[in-house]
Amino acid sequence: MPEPVLDVAGLEAGYGHSRILRGVDLTVGPGEIVGLVGRNGSGRSTALKAMVGLLAPSGGSVRLGGREMAGRPAHAVVRAGLAYVPEDRQPFVNLTVAENLRLGLQPGPGRRWRVDEMFEFFPRLRERARTRAGVLSGGEQQMLALARSLLGGPRVILVDEPTEGLAPLIVARLVEVLRTVAAAGIGILLVEQRLTIVLDLATRIAVLGHGRVVHEGPPGD
Ligand code: ATP
Ligand code: MG
Repeated sequence: MPEPVLDVAGLEAGYGHSRILRGVDLTVGPGEIVGLVGRNGSGRSTALKAMVGLLAPSGGSVRLGGREMAGRPAHAVVRAGLAYVPEDRQPFVNLTVAENLRLGLQPGPGRRWRVDEMFEFFPRLRERARTRAGVLSGGEQQMLALARSLLGGPRVILVDEPTEGLAPLIVARLVEVLRTVAAAGIGILLVEQRLTIVLDLATRIAVLGHGRVVHEGPPGD
């Protein structure tokens, strides 16, 4: 097993007095796809938010390439190479697709993807390059969000429910792209409701329950 690029240990976080994460231990290696599954409300989205610093952890550590990220603001964590594609992926609605792909992107430490590679991944985005992002469909917005996260040069991407509400053809495209991204050495932590996709993509599955990872193993385990 290669050294993990993301190493989360004893992560605790919550909202006000309600503790949601009670010591999450999880690793993602380079090029590894880890599926994070659990019931609705089990804290999967909270876990991703706490890792990327959108929610301040109350305990534990989040190490990226050996460097501590816990306690740092989200923009610093993202710049260090931990990208986050949220459930409610909002583009800059008044800008075009092409502008969204160029905006404020300072390449991080990971692989430097180019805009034209994103257009190869998602030909639909090239067709829509001059379209205002506010009028994109849900699937197109998901493609745009994933493309933006890759252009930031991540070492690991955290992806929250990327296939929710998308048509089967778009889902197939996303799955294909995630596989290509992992093959390029980027680690992926994937929160995904559709078990068939997790079983198909993930090299390892972690089950979240009672605020902890209660089971971990290869798919089919
Ligand atoms: P799903 O996406 O299926 O809703 P999840 O596993 O992603 O579930 P979270 O969104 O992390 O779960 O929510 C975990 C718990 O934290 C839930 O009980 C939820 O009500 C609570 N929670 C989430 N966000 C907030 C918030 N901003 N303020 C207070 N409580 C929250
Ligand atoms: Mg969620």
